[in-house]
Amino acid sequence: MTCPRCGASSPRIDYEGTEGGSVVWRVLFCQTCHYTWRSNEPAQTIDAAARDHFFDIDTSALDGLPIVLPPRD
Ligand SMILES: [Zn+2]
Repeated sequence: MTCPRCGASSPRIDYEGTEGGSVVWRVLFCQTCHYTWRSNEPAQTIDAAARDHFFDIDTSALDGLPIVLPPRD
């Protein structure tokens, strides 16, 4: 599985929703661009091929992105 926003591989599984002992959805976190998504969201949100490429991130330029919320001290 890859991140739908930046294409990085191996997102971290933050949570698994279960039903009857089986995993039915997951919350995934990209450790490269920090995008978080649920595995059962619509394709327009989580499928890189179906997403609007306006929202893609070039991981070679992460340091040039503005900081919207500065980190806490
Ligand atoms: Zn990512």
